[in-house]
Amino acid sequence: MKKYQEMTREELLAEQQSLQAEFDKIKAKGLSLDMSRGKPGTEQLELAMPMLDVVNSKTVLKSENGTDLRNYGILDGIPEAKRLIASMIDVDPEMILVYGNSSLNSMYDQVARAYYEGICGHTPWCKLEKVKFLCPVPGYDRHFAITEHFGIEMINIDMNDDGPLMDQVEEAVKDPSVKGIWCVPKYSNPEGVVYSDETVRRFAALKPAAEDFRIFWDNAYVVHHLYEDEQAEILNIFDEAKKYGNEDMIFEFCSTSKVSFPGSGIAGVAASKKNLEDIKSQLTYQTIGFDKINQYRHVAFFKDRAGIDAHMMKQAAIIRPKFEMLNDLLSEEIAPRGIGNWKKPLGGYFISFEALQGCAKEIIAKCKEAGVTMTGAGSPFPYKKDPKDSVIRIAPTYPSLEELTEAAKVFVTVVRLVSCEKMLA
Ligand code: PLP
Repeated sequence: MKKYQEMTREELLAEQQSLQAEFDKIKAKGLSLDMSRGKPGTEQLELAMPMLDVVNSKTVLKSENGTDLRNYGILDGIPEAKRLIASMIDVDPEMILVYGNSSLNSMYDQVARAYYEGICGHTPWCKLEKVKFLCPVPGYDRHFAITEHFGIEMINIDMNDDGPLMDQVEEAVKDPSVKGIWCVPKYSNPEGVVYSDETVRRFAALKPAAEDFRIFWDNAYVVHHLYEDEQAEILNIFDEAKKYGNEDMIFEFCSTSKVSFPGSGIAGVAASKKNLEDIKSQLTYQTIGFDKINQYRHVAFFKDRAGIDAHMMKQAAIIRPKFEMLNDLLSEEIAPRGIGNWKKPLGGYFISFEALQGCAKEIIAKCKEAGVTMTGAGSPFPYKKDPKDSVIRIAPTYPSLEELTEAAKVFVTVVRLVSCEKMLA
């Protein structure tokens, strides 16, 4: 197989013609497939159904500290749920605030609190002329949507194989209007990047100009390994930050959304004592307490970290073949032709495909024409602007393996066709 870059114009023209014919045949099939949804498939959700049986009308709904779970009370979560969440991210349960059903909600609230009320007595961001956030790219679109919503200026930070480019981060935080950074340190959305020890250490040692600068450490995929024998681990950011007296610089987030049920999981925020007190002093106006019965349900079902890990391995067995099929197909059809790059993830929910520069929009549009929905072009970037128009997020978990295989074949045909056209243009 020849690289497109090594083909003559005639060879490229012949390739384009045959791909166009293939594309027309695919279009005639009237497919309706979707590789855009970063959510668990039905089979994964089935695994957690017994969780719904651990509570019934006969269950004694009491926390270990005697609290009646059916009634109001406990702003920061029942102790046993704090322990469960703490075990996921390997921190002291004292550092945990068990939130509601969504970590994204807790991140939004954190930005909102900083914006309207200020962090730990600092000037509310809404009163400042300019507030900026650092955004490692490609990243999670909903993070960027939150900061955009609050009118916070977003600055792209490039990603490497081992996390954000720390030289760029260290330089950027010298600006006092830079107040935060979005990070997904393990199996990042969408590239599956795992931050190296050096990256975590450099984050922990940051010396930002703004005292209310915070790292938004979204450990959404902390337990989402694809393999039993090849699991990434990252350094504990709080342990590292302590060495520099920097514990107050970090908010860590996680949830059980893609462990139990998205929308019906439990979320957790981990923070220093000072930050937790600050959060609670504001949260108390927002709620009397979150859903303690759901917290109890999760503890009764998963019991501990070992229970969560065992459950996640059952999920991995379901989704691993989907990731591997995609990886194999891209390795066979795309890599030898020199028309795209991607990283083989060891966990998380996505594969991030990097097409030839200037091709992503066209690939996504042509996939749509052929009946395959992909995540919108530019989504993994602030303001939906992909500077190279090359990144496409692929979400393999939701469709069945059969549907995904069919969709992936369409995708590679379209990538080849659009790359060919680009090179001929
Ligand atoms: N953080 C990241 C990086 C995600 O990819 C997602 C969902 O895709 C979320 C957070 C959402 O989490 P939750 O369901 O807990 O709000």
